[in-house]
Amino acid sequence: MVEELTSLTNLLIMASLLLNVITLFTVVRLVRKNKAGSSKSIGGAATETAATTTNVFSSEAGAVFCRNCGDQYDSTSAVCPSCHTRR
Ligand SMILES: [Zn+2]
Repeated sequence: MVEELTSLTNLLIMASLLLNVITLFTVVRLVRKNKAGSSKSIGGAATETAATTTNVFSSEAGAVFCRNCGDQYDSTSAVCPSCHTRR
């Protein structure tokens, strides 16, 4: 009778421990999932903003007008492609 009681108590302790471990793993997994999701979305938004800013700057700085013929060409070229006048 005493042995039976002890084994039953042990079983209950084991069951509660197992439940605790399962709960712990579930919480850890949820926290990790949330952290990964939030950091990923923030990073994606930052990358998007940076790309947009780069596009705006490149479109503003990339086009110049020729003083001679008024042609629009890229600022990376030193001379106008139409009349070869220096900027
Ligand atoms: Zn020109």
